[in-house]
Amino acid sequence: MKANVWAGRNRLEIQDVPDPQILNARDAIVRVSSTAICGSDLHLVDGYIPTVKKGDVLGHEFMGEVVEVGPGVHNLHTGDRVVVPFPIACGACFACEAELYSVCENSNPNAGMAEKLMGHAPAGIFGYSHMLGGFAGGQAEYVRVPFADVGPIKVEDDLPDEKVLFLSDIFPTGFMGAEMCDIKPGQTIAIWGAGPVGQFAAASAFLLGADRVIVIDRFPYRLRRVQRTGAEVLNYEEVNVLEALRDMTGGRGPDACIDAVGMEAHHPTPAMYAYDRTKQAARMETERPYVLREAIMACRNGGVVSVIGVYGGFVDKFPMGTVMNRSLTIRTGQCHVQRYTEPLLQRIRAGEIDPSFVISHRMPLSEAPRGFELFKNKQDECNKVVLTP
Ligand code: NAD
Ligand code: ZN
Ligand code: ZN
Repeated sequence: MKANVWAGRNRLEIQDVPDPQILNARDAIVRVSSTAICGSDLHLVDGYIPTVKKGDVLGHEFMGEVVEVGPGVHNLHTGDRVVVPFPIACGACFACEAELYSVCENSNPNAGMAEKLMGHAPAGIFGYSHMLGGFAGGQAEYVRVPFADVGPIKVEDDLPDEKVLFLSDIFPTGFMGAEMCDIKPGQTIAIWGAGPVGQFAAASAFLLGADRVIVIDRFPYRLRRVQRTGAEVLNYEEVNVLEALRDMTGGRGPDACIDAVGMEAHHPTPAMYAYDRTKQAARMETERPYVLREAIMACRNGGVVSVIGVYGGFVDKFPMGTVMNRSLTIRTGQCHVQRYTEPLLQRIRAGEIDPSFVISHRMPLSEAPRGFELFKNKQDECNKVVLTP
């Protein structure tokens, strides 16, 4: 089959790879009908998430048709149309029982690798490095889906792929980012990053009752897109973000701040950018945590900092004194997607939201490397790329 493969730092290739096979009783094989490129893929492509190997198939946002099931899968059948959550989860361990699916204790066969870096291991994730399980991803014609009786959600044929594909990741992720803010009526939520994840976080903050949502980025085309959710916007190349947020909130600061940027933040101030960029390039720190620092500084006393942007290892110059002295709460996680698929599908069905609003580019899987270039460099007003095998 054809698949989009990591061929070295910033090099992607469409290659012929072996078709996936059923390995365990609870596996299914899915023929991919739609798959997408995510900001999380960018951290892998340029080599900032460790343990990606040449030949690895990327992709963790996908859906399609079940073409084969193992003998332990009774709730799915050949021909079913499914959306597959990006974290792989067994459904029965301590974490899964607590609906903490992205830290499932049974789905990461390379847990030992992750333990060295993180203390304990998170779940396996499709197409997301060997440390996170070494699973082949969904930017391919077919995928093996482990624990297929737990994660995939069946969708009847009435809703097109474009409306349900993002249940695999970014709609639940944006929603969880907003949910972690514990939004109360009248509150103001600030969001760093007007990418697709930030856009879903903004839309979700309104669904959960926020009064005002303020989104920060530097690309006017993305800020225009997020304005359609009803959010106010700040261009950090034009204003001082901390001052502007203070002014917009009567001096107090936003009630909660969402980091929807993660480990490769761009810095408006050249000196700090040079500091983090140099340390990151020399692999002396894994992150450029500019946004995390700014979100912490901006948040009102006693507020919540909700971190859905991905981090890989260790951050430098972390303002712990601010967190401690101002009683901030930090909440974070890879999204526990399985927790949200059913309720968010209901919201899509009810017409509360049409997730296809984020799509800017559609192309065949064979053009995935070009799609990555556009998405990475924010060219051609690229917002979200959907690939069809
Ligand atoms: P993206 O690259 O499309 O968007 C990131 C945006 O952040 C860009 O528009 C960029 O201009 C903006 N940005 C960079 N520096 C900034 C700064 N200093 N201030 C404000 N904005 C800044 O990526 P995306 O697909 O929207 O994903 C965003 C983040 O969410 C990534 O880190 C991704 O890995 C993460 N993510 C996390 C989960 C999860 O489960 N927690 C799931 C999906 C994605
Ligand atoms: Zn993703
Ligand atoms: Zn589990």
